[in-house]
Amino acid sequence: MNAAGAAWIAVALAGCRAGVTHPLDDSTPATHGFAVHRTEHFAVRHDTTPAKAAWVAERLEAAYRAVWQFCRRFRLEVRPPAGPLEVILFARRDDYERFRTRAGPAFEDAVGFYSSKLNVAAFYDLHQHPEIRLIDEAIRRIELVPDGDSTGGDIGQEPTSAKTIDGLRAGRDAMVEEFNRLVLRHEAVHQVVHNAGVFGQDGCRPPWLVEGLACLLEVDQPDDAVLPNAYRLADFREAVHAESNEGDARVAHAPPTVPASLSVSLVELLHDFGAPQHNRAHLYAEAWAILYYLTRMRPDSLPGFIRALAVCPADAGATRAAESAAFEAAFGRPDGPWEAAWIAFMLDLPVEEPRQPPRLNLPPPQ
Ligand SMILES: [Zn+2]
Repeated sequence: MNAAGAAWIAVALAGCRAGVTHPLDDSTPATHGFAVHRTEHFAVRHDTTPAKAAWVAERLEAAYRAVWQFCRRFRLEVRPPAGPLEVILFARRDDYERFRTRAGPAFEDAVGFYSSKLNVAAFYDLHQHPEIRLIDEAIRRIELVPDGDSTGGDIGQEPTSAKTIDGLRAGRDAMVEEFNRLVLRHEAVHQVVHNAGVFGQDGCRPPWLVEGLACLLEVDQPDDAVLPNAYRLADFREAVHAESNEGDARVAHAPPTVPASLSVSLVELLHDFGAPQHNRAHLYAEAWAILYYLTRMRPDSLPGFIRALAVCPADAGATRAAESAAFEAAFGRPDGPWEAAWIAFMLDLPVEEPRQPPRLNLPPPQ
Protein backbone atom coordinates (compact mmCIF):
# COMPACT_ATOMS: atom_id res chain seq x y z
CA MET A 1 0.00 0.00 0.00
CA ASN A 2 1.37 3.37 -0.93
CA ALA A 3 1.01 5.33 2.26
CA ALA A 4 1.88 8.60 0.59
CA GLY A 5 -1.18 8.28 -1.58
CA ALA A 6 -3.51 7.97 1.30
CA ALA A 7 -2.33 10.01 4.20
CA TRP A 8 -4.71 10.68 6.97
CA ILE A 9 -4.46 11.50 10.56
CA ALA A 10 -7.15 11.01 13.07
CA VAL A 11 -8.60 13.93 14.86
CA ALA A 12 -11.49 13.54 17.11
CA LEU A 13 -14.05 15.56 18.78
CA ALA A 14 -14.09 14.95 22.47
CA GLY A 15 -14.86 17.62 24.96
CA CYS A 16 -17.39 19.31 22.74
CA ARG A 17 -19.44 22.06 24.22
CA ALA A 18 -22.99 21.28 25.07
CA GLY A 19 -25.51 22.43 22.52
CA VAL A 20 -23.17 22.38 19.55
CA THR A 21 -24.79 21.42 16.27
CA HIS A 22 -24.13 17.84 15.33
CA PRO A 23 -21.27 17.83 12.84
CA LEU A 24 -23.07 15.52 10.47
CA ASP A 25 -26.13 17.72 10.21
CA ASP A 26 -26.22 18.75 6.55
CA SER A 27 -27.12 22.25 7.58
CA THR A 28 -23.65 22.78 9.03
CA PRO A 29 -20.90 23.90 6.70
CA ALA A 30 -18.37 21.43 8.14
CA THR A 31 -19.40 18.52 5.94
CA HIS A 32 -21.75 20.20 3.51
CA GLY A 33 -21.35 18.69 0.09
CA PHE A 34 -19.11 15.89 1.31
CA ALA A 35 -19.29 12.53 -0.43
CA VAL A 36 -20.06 9.46 1.65
CA HIS A 37 -18.03 6.28 1.37
CA ARG A 38 -19.94 3.42 2.96
CA THR A 39 -18.54 0.12 4.13
CA GLU A 40 -20.13 -2.67 6.10
CA HIS A 41 -19.78 -0.83 9.42
CA PHE A 42 -18.75 2.78 8.65
CA ALA A 43 -20.04 5.82 6.80
CA VAL A 44 -17.07 7.97 5.90
CA ARG A 45 -17.95 11.55 4.95
CA HIS A 46 -15.11 13.14 3.01
CA ASP A 47 -14.08 15.83 0.58
CA THR A 48 -11.22 13.86 -0.87
CA THR A 49 -10.90 11.11 -3.43
CA PRO A 50 -12.82 7.83 -3.28
CA ALA A 51 -9.50 5.97 -3.22
CA LYS A 52 -8.30 7.80 -0.11
CA ALA A 53 -11.61 7.34 1.63
CA ALA A 54 -11.51 3.65 0.80
CA TRP A 55 -7.97 3.39 2.18
CA VAL A 56 -9.07 4.89 5.45
CA ALA A 57 -12.22 2.80 5.60
CA GLU A 58 -10.17 -0.32 5.17
CA ARG A 59 -8.29 0.50 8.37
CA LEU A 60 -11.46 1.34 10.21
CA GLU A 61 -12.89 -2.04 9.30
CA ALA A 62 -9.68 -3.68 10.55
CA ALA A 63 -10.28 -2.00 13.91
CA TYR A 64 -13.82 -3.32 13.94
CA ARG A 65 -12.59 -6.85 13.35
CA ALA A 66 -9.95 -6.46 16.06
CA VAL A 67 -12.55 -5.52 18.68
CA TRP A 68 -14.75 -8.47 17.74
CA GLN A 69 -11.76 -10.78 17.81
CA PHE A 70 -10.80 -9.58 21.30
CA CYS A 71 -14.34 -9.99 22.61
CA ARG A 72 -14.62 -13.47 21.15
CA ARG A 73 -11.32 -14.45 22.73
CA PHE A 74 -12.33 -13.19 26.17
CA ARG A 75 -15.96 -14.26 25.92
CA LEU A 76 -17.38 -10.77 26.17
CA GLU A 77 -20.88 -10.04 24.97
CA VAL A 78 -21.12 -7.45 22.25
CA ARG A 79 -23.91 -6.18 20.04
CA PRO A 80 -23.62 -4.94 16.47
CA PRO A 81 -23.87 -1.15 16.30
CA ALA A 82 -27.34 0.15 15.52
CA GLY A 83 -26.17 1.79 12.31
CA PRO A 84 -23.05 2.76 10.41
CA LEU A 85 -20.36 4.42 12.49
CA GLU A 86 -19.85 8.00 11.36
CA VAL A 87 -16.43 9.31 10.44
CA ILE A 88 -15.35 12.59 8.81
CA LEU A 89 -12.29 12.96 6.60
CA PHE A 90 -11.11 16.49 5.87
CA ALA A 91 -8.88 17.03 2.87
CA ARG A 92 -7.47 20.22 4.39
CA ARG A 93 -6.10 20.73 7.84
CA ASP A 94 -7.48 24.27 7.89
CA ASP A 95 -11.00 22.95 7.50
CA TYR A 96 -10.41 20.53 10.29
CA GLU A 97 -9.01 23.27 12.49
CA ARG A 98 -12.06 25.43 11.92
CA PHE A 99 -14.24 22.48 12.79
CA ARG A 100 -12.18 21.60 15.85
CA THR A 101 -12.19 25.10 17.27
CA ARG A 102 -15.93 25.34 16.80
CA ALA A 103 -17.00 21.95 17.99
CA GLY A 104 -13.94 20.10 19.17
CA PRO A 105 -11.39 20.11 21.97
CA ALA A 106 -9.80 23.30 23.19
CA PHE A 107 -6.24 22.00 23.07
CA GLU A 108 -4.44 22.26 19.77
CA ASP A 109 -2.22 19.23 19.86
CA ALA A 110 -5.01 16.70 19.65
CA VAL A 111 -4.15 14.51 16.73
CA GLY A 112 -6.72 11.87 17.29
CA PHE A 113 -9.63 10.92 19.42
CA TYR A 114 -13.19 9.85 19.26
CA SER A 115 -16.13 11.65 20.79
CA SER A 116 -18.60 9.33 22.44
CA LYS A 117 -20.88 12.31 22.87
CA LEU A 118 -21.09 12.97 19.14
CA ASN A 119 -20.28 9.39 18.25
CA VAL A 120 -18.04 10.70 15.51
CA ALA A 121 -14.34 10.63 14.71
CA ALA A 122 -12.74 12.98 12.21
CA PHE A 123 -9.50 12.93 10.28
CA TYR A 124 -7.41 15.16 8.08
CA ASP A 125 -4.87 14.63 5.38
CA LEU A 126 -1.63 13.80 7.10
CA HIS A 127 0.34 15.52 4.36
CA GLN A 128 -0.89 18.69 5.99
CA HIS A 129 0.79 17.75 9.26
CA PRO A 130 3.67 20.13 10.11
CA GLU A 131 6.25 17.36 10.46
CA ILE A 132 5.36 15.89 7.10
CA ARG A 133 5.40 19.30 5.46
CA LEU A 134 8.92 19.87 6.77
CA ILE A 135 10.06 16.69 5.05
CA ASP A 136 8.29 17.68 1.84
CA GLU A 137 9.99 21.08 1.93
CA ALA A 138 13.37 19.42 2.42
CA ILE A 139 12.72 17.23 -0.61
CA ARG A 140 11.71 20.25 -2.69
CA ARG A 141 14.85 22.14 -1.69
CA ILE A 142 17.06 19.26 -2.80
CA GLU A 143 15.14 18.92 -6.05
CA LEU A 144 15.80 22.58 -6.83
CA VAL A 145 19.57 22.07 -6.71
CA PRO A 146 21.01 21.44 -10.20
CA ASP A 147 22.23 17.86 -10.67
CA GLY A 148 25.86 18.90 -11.15
CA ASP A 149 25.95 20.63 -7.80
CA SER A 150 24.94 17.72 -5.66
CA THR A 151 26.33 14.52 -7.12
CA GLY A 152 28.81 13.17 -4.66
CA GLY A 153 29.26 9.61 -5.84
CA ASP A 154 31.55 8.02 -8.41
CA ILE A 155 30.77 8.05 -12.11
CA GLY A 156 27.94 5.68 -12.82
CA GLN A 157 26.60 5.81 -9.31
CA GLU A 158 23.27 7.23 -8.36
CA PRO A 159 23.58 10.92 -7.42
CA THR A 160 23.68 11.60 -3.73
CA SER A 161 20.75 13.98 -4.04
CA ALA A 162 18.59 11.22 -5.53
CA LYS A 163 19.53 8.87 -2.70
CA THR A 164 18.75 11.55 -0.17
CA ILE A 165 15.37 12.25 -1.72
CA ASP A 166 14.57 8.54 -1.83
CA GLY A 167 15.52 8.25 1.83
CA LEU A 168 13.41 11.22 2.82
CA ARG A 169 10.44 9.93 0.85
CA ALA A 170 10.78 6.48 2.38
CA GLY A 171 10.95 7.97 5.87
CA ARG A 172 8.00 10.21 5.21
CA ASP A 173 5.91 7.36 3.84
CA ALA A 174 6.79 5.15 6.79
CA MET A 175 5.81 7.91 9.18
CA VAL A 176 2.53 8.44 7.38
CA GLU A 177 1.79 4.73 7.36
CA GLU A 178 2.52 4.31 11.06
CA PHE A 179 0.64 7.43 12.08
CA ASN A 180 -2.32 6.30 10.06
CA ARG A 181 -2.25 2.76 11.23
CA LEU A 182 -1.96 3.62 14.90
CA VAL A 183 -4.14 6.70 15.08
CA LEU A 184 -6.90 5.45 12.85
CA ARG A 185 -6.98 2.11 14.57
CA HIS A 186 -6.82 3.63 18.04
CA GLU A 187 -9.74 5.97 17.50
CA ALA A 188 -11.78 3.45 15.57
CA VAL A 189 -11.35 0.96 18.40
CA HIS A 190 -12.79 3.54 20.80
CA GLN A 191 -15.75 4.04 18.50
CA VAL A 192 -16.41 0.35 17.96
CA VAL A 193 -16.01 -0.53 21.66
CA HIS A 194 -18.47 2.17 22.61
CA ASN A 195 -21.05 1.20 20.03
CA ALA A 196 -20.69 -2.53 20.63
CA GLY A 197 -21.35 -2.07 24.34
CA VAL A 198 -18.17 -3.82 25.43
CA PHE A 199 -18.31 -2.03 28.77
CA GLY A 200 -22.06 -2.21 29.06
CA GLN A 201 -24.60 0.52 28.68
CA ASP A 202 -24.27 2.47 31.91
CA GLY A 203 -21.50 0.74 33.78
CA CYS A 204 -18.08 1.89 34.91
CA ARG A 205 -15.53 2.62 32.23
CA PRO A 206 -12.19 3.12 33.93
CA PRO A 207 -10.16 5.38 31.64
CA TRP A 208 -7.06 3.21 32.03
CA LEU A 209 -9.03 0.25 30.68
CA VAL A 210 -10.65 2.22 27.85
CA GLU A 211 -7.29 3.56 26.72
CA GLY A 212 -5.46 0.33 27.42
CA LEU A 213 -7.83 -1.56 25.14
CA ALA A 214 -7.42 0.99 22.34
CA CYS A 215 -3.64 0.76 22.70
CA LEU A 216 -3.80 -3.04 22.74
CA LEU A 217 -5.84 -3.26 19.55
CA GLU A 218 -4.20 -0.41 17.62
CA VAL A 219 -1.76 -3.03 16.32
CA ASP A 220 -2.66 -6.22 14.49
CA GLN A 221 -3.26 -9.25 16.67
CA PRO A 222 -3.37 -12.90 15.62
CA ASP A 223 -6.39 -15.05 16.41
CA ASP A 224 -4.65 -17.19 18.98
CA ALA A 225 -2.52 -14.77 21.00
CA VAL A 226 -2.23 -11.25 22.34
CA LEU A 227 0.99 -9.65 21.21
CA PRO A 228 2.82 -6.71 22.72
CA ASN A 229 2.60 -3.30 21.09
CA ALA A 230 6.22 -2.38 20.38
CA TYR A 231 5.53 1.35 20.49
CA ARG A 232 3.82 1.21 23.85
CA LEU A 233 6.41 -1.18 25.24
CA ALA A 234 9.17 1.28 24.33
CA ASP A 235 7.24 4.02 26.10
CA PHE A 236 6.62 1.76 29.09
CA ARG A 237 10.33 1.11 29.47
CA GLU A 238 10.84 4.83 29.56
CA ALA A 239 8.02 5.18 32.05
CA VAL A 240 9.75 2.82 34.48
CA HIS A 241 13.10 4.44 33.87
CA ALA A 242 14.49 1.32 32.24
CA GLU A 243 15.76 3.27 29.26
CA SER A 244 19.32 3.15 30.55
CA ASN A 245 19.49 -0.36 29.09
CA GLU A 246 18.03 0.56 25.75
CA GLY A 247 21.30 0.29 23.88
CA ASP A 248 21.53 -3.47 24.36
CA ALA A 249 17.85 -4.00 24.94
CA ARG A 250 17.04 -3.06 21.37
CA VAL A 251 18.63 -6.31 20.32
CA ALA A 252 18.49 -8.56 23.34
CA HIS A 253 16.64 -7.26 26.32
CA ALA A 254 18.35 -7.02 29.65
CA PRO A 255 16.98 -6.55 33.13
CA PRO A 256 17.00 -2.95 34.27
CA THR A 257 20.05 -1.88 36.19
CA VAL A 258 18.13 0.90 37.90
CA PRO A 259 15.35 0.35 40.41
CA ALA A 260 12.04 0.29 38.60
CA SER A 261 9.78 3.16 39.52
CA LEU A 262 6.75 4.21 37.59
CA SER A 263 6.38 7.55 35.93
CA VAL A 264 2.72 7.42 36.89
CA SER A 265 2.07 5.42 40.05
CA LEU A 266 -0.22 2.45 39.83
CA VAL A 267 -2.71 4.07 42.18
CA GLU A 268 -2.78 7.23 40.07
CA LEU A 269 -3.14 5.20 36.93
CA LEU A 270 -6.10 3.25 38.25
CA HIS A 271 -7.88 6.14 39.92
CA ASP A 272 -6.61 9.44 38.62
CA PHE A 273 -5.95 8.74 34.96
CA GLY A 274 -5.36 11.84 32.89
CA ALA A 275 -4.25 14.23 35.60
CA PRO A 276 -2.51 17.06 33.73
CA GLN A 277 0.86 16.59 35.40
CA HIS A 278 1.32 13.16 33.87
CA ASN A 279 3.45 12.42 30.85
CA ARG A 280 0.87 11.39 28.29
CA ALA A 281 2.99 8.83 26.47
CA HIS A 282 3.90 7.17 29.76
CA LEU A 283 0.31 7.25 30.92
CA TYR A 284 -0.98 5.45 27.85
CA ALA A 285 1.91 3.02 27.88
CA GLU A 286 1.19 2.06 31.47
CA ALA A 287 -2.52 1.67 30.74
CA TRP A 288 -1.66 -0.61 27.85
CA ALA A 289 0.84 -2.50 30.02
CA ILE A 290 -1.70 -3.29 32.72
CA LEU A 291 -4.21 -4.65 30.25
CA TYR A 292 -1.54 -6.55 28.35
CA TYR A 293 -0.33 -8.09 31.62
CA LEU A 294 -3.85 -9.13 32.55
CA THR A 295 -4.51 -10.71 29.15
CA ARG A 296 -1.34 -12.76 29.53
CA MET A 297 -1.33 -13.59 33.24
CA ARG A 298 -4.98 -13.38 34.28
CA PRO A 299 -6.94 -14.24 31.14
CA ASP A 300 -9.54 -16.23 33.08
CA SER A 301 -10.28 -13.34 35.45
CA LEU A 302 -10.40 -10.59 32.86
CA PRO A 303 -13.87 -11.37 31.42
CA GLY A 304 -15.44 -11.40 34.87
CA PHE A 305 -13.78 -8.09 35.72
CA ILE A 306 -15.16 -6.41 32.60
CA ARG A 307 -18.61 -7.89 33.20
CA ALA A 308 -18.52 -6.62 36.79
CA LEU A 309 -17.74 -3.14 35.53
CA ALA A 310 -20.73 -3.27 33.21
CA VAL A 311 -23.07 -3.41 36.21
CA CYS A 312 -21.24 -0.80 38.24
CA PRO A 313 -23.43 1.70 40.07
CA ALA A 314 -24.17 4.71 37.90
CA ASP A 315 -23.70 6.99 40.89
CA ALA A 316 -20.46 8.80 40.20
CA GLY A 317 -19.60 8.92 43.88
CA ALA A 318 -19.62 5.15 44.09
CA THR A 319 -17.76 4.53 40.86
CA ARG A 320 -14.22 4.63 42.21
CA ALA A 321 -15.03 2.29 45.06
CA ALA A 322 -16.85 -0.06 42.73
CA GLU A 323 -13.98 -0.10 40.28
CA SER A 324 -11.52 -0.82 43.07
CA ALA A 325 -13.67 -3.61 44.42
CA ALA A 326 -14.04 -5.18 40.99
CA PHE A 327 -10.29 -4.96 40.37
CA GLU A 328 -9.39 -6.48 43.72
CA ALA A 329 -11.97 -9.23 43.39
CA ALA A 330 -10.60 -10.20 40.00
CA PHE A 331 -6.87 -9.63 40.34
CA GLY A 332 -6.04 -8.98 43.97
CA ARG A 333 -5.04 -5.79 45.74
CA PRO A 334 -2.82 -3.67 43.48
CA ASP A 335 -0.20 -3.11 46.14
CA GLY A 336 3.57 -3.00 46.02
CA PRO A 337 4.17 -6.69 45.31
CA TRP A 338 1.44 -6.66 42.63
CA GLU A 339 3.09 -3.67 41.00
CA ALA A 340 6.54 -5.23 41.21
CA ALA A 341 5.35 -8.46 39.58
CA TRP A 342 3.68 -6.51 36.81
CA ILE A 343 6.71 -4.35 36.09
CA ALA A 344 9.05 -7.33 36.16
CA PHE A 345 6.85 -9.17 33.67
CA MET A 346 6.74 -6.20 31.32
CA LEU A 347 10.46 -5.52 31.47
CA ASP A 348 11.16 -9.15 30.73
CA LEU A 349 9.39 -8.92 27.36
CA PRO A 350 11.70 -8.94 24.35
CA VAL A 351 12.12 -5.48 22.96
CA GLU A 352 11.62 -4.94 19.28
CA GLU A 353 12.55 -1.65 17.83
CA PRO A 354 9.47 0.05 16.48
CA ARG A 355 9.92 0.73 12.81
CA GLN A 356 9.24 4.43 13.08
CA PRO A 357 7.91 5.25 16.50
CA PRO A 358 5.63 8.22 16.09
CA ARG A 359 4.97 10.40 19.06
CA LEU A 360 1.23 10.44 19.12
CA ASN A 361 0.00 13.54 20.81
CA LEU A 362 -2.93 11.76 22.24
CA PRO A 363 -5.56 13.83 23.95
CA PRO A 364 -6.57 13.48 27.56
CA PRO A 365 -8.94 10.58 28.13
CA GLN A 366 -12.56 11.13 27.35
ZN1 LIG B 1 -7.62 6.81 23.22
